[in-house]
Amino acid sequence: MKMPIYMDYHATTPVDPGVVEAMLPYMTDQFGNAASRQHAYGWEAEGAVEHARKSIAESINASPNEIVFTSGATESNNLALKGVAEAIRSKGNHIICGRTEHRSILDVCEVLSRNGFRVSYVDVDGEGVVRPEAVLGLMTSDTILVSVMAANNEIGTISPLEEIGRVCLERGVLFHSDATQAYGKIPLDVRRMNIHLLSISAHKICGPKGVGALYVRKKNPRVSLVPQQDGGGHEGGMRSGTLNVPGIVGLAKAAEISFRTLHEESGRVGMLRDRLEESLLSIDGARRNGDPANRLWNNISVTIPYVRAEGLIAALKNDIAISSGSACSSADRDAAKVSHVLHAVGLDDEMARCTIRIGVGRFTTAEEVEYAAGKIIDAVGVLRAQSPEYQLSMKSVSHNVPT
Ligand SMILES: *Cc1c(COP(=O)(O)O)cnc(C)c1O
Repeated sequence: MKMPIYMDYHATTPVDPGVVEAMLPYMTDQFGNAASRQHAYGWEAEGAVEHARKSIAESINASPNEIVFTSGATESNNLALKGVAEAIRSKGNHIICGRTEHRSILDVCEVLSRNGFRVSYVDVDGEGVVRPEAVLGLMTSDTILVSVMAANNEIGTISPLEEIGRVCLERGVLFHSDATQAYGKIPLDVRRMNIHLLSISAHKICGPKGVGALYVRKKNPRVSLVPQQDGGGHEGGMRSGTLNVPGIVGLAKAAEISFRTLHEESGRVGMLRDRLEESLLSIDGARRNGDPANRLWNNISVTIPYVRAEGLIAALKNDIAISSGSACSSADRDAAKVSHVLHAVGLDDEMARCTIRIGVGRFTTAEEVEYAAGKIIDAVGVLRAQSPEYQLSMKSVSHNVPT
């Protein structure tokens, strides 16, 4: 086993060797610029990009000309929300998004609200589900865009996209979904789900970092976007800049492998997840977060009372790499900030601070899961033995036990 064992697949994933192999020629022999129209190097690169575009389009039931390559989901989310908001500002200024969205949606919404847009945040239920009725309830004649993530990156809850899409269709409102965590793990169909814009990223599906895509619907209706980066007019003018050819090839290969192996991997990894989760839930007082009926098959979010995640993760750092939540909120190093997702599902600050997130995946083994379960349980025991609050709670429990 490679130590520490990597169990943070929601933050990023190792690149699949098959993906590396597919990418390599586009860095060495076939290094051409996909925009070079006058020689074979350019044609080869362009051919690879168009092949990737077609394959990604097919994976979500879109057309190739509806795929815009970007540097990742953060950029896709920026382009989708800011691009639409600017393009159809004359139709209204109201935007609706979920409360448990990734920072790359929430921060963009904050910028938009400083620029004259009104943003409403849809509440979620205790399991993190955005209810279509709740979205409908917030709509006004000024609403132009709804953004709800396909699956949550902390608690794994999968949104009822088709139902939310139907509400948007009925009200003539554009629907964007950040599908970064869901893509490659559940089937997504932009036509059936009435999705107008969809963000994906390669590095969450065993592809390389720094590449992603945005689906932008071209008909029924044709979605117009104001580009957020100008230059040579690449990607139909929607996203200028020399295309990351190896990255795009890697994204398509990563998607192809994910969808090809989806059935068996959801079974195998799902079983490992269940095994690890069951072990953790056997800890006194531990509880699961997220929607047990509808969530990502590789996600675990558990709250272990009296054990601060920060201390537990530090105690385990040589054995297992896990996290307390989103890597993107930890990027700002504001450790005091507790997860907005856990707040939204009703956890108080203390319970949120006692929550760990584990993401298993393609390269996780049964041996690793067994080892991790033992280590976590042991560390919880040690930390609780040192916790005066836990000792006190145990005493009060035993006092209440009738003898
Ligand atoms: C990781 C993630 C992002 C950001 O993707 P990048 O490609 O790293 O910019 C956005 N949304 C969700 C839900 C994510 O999990």
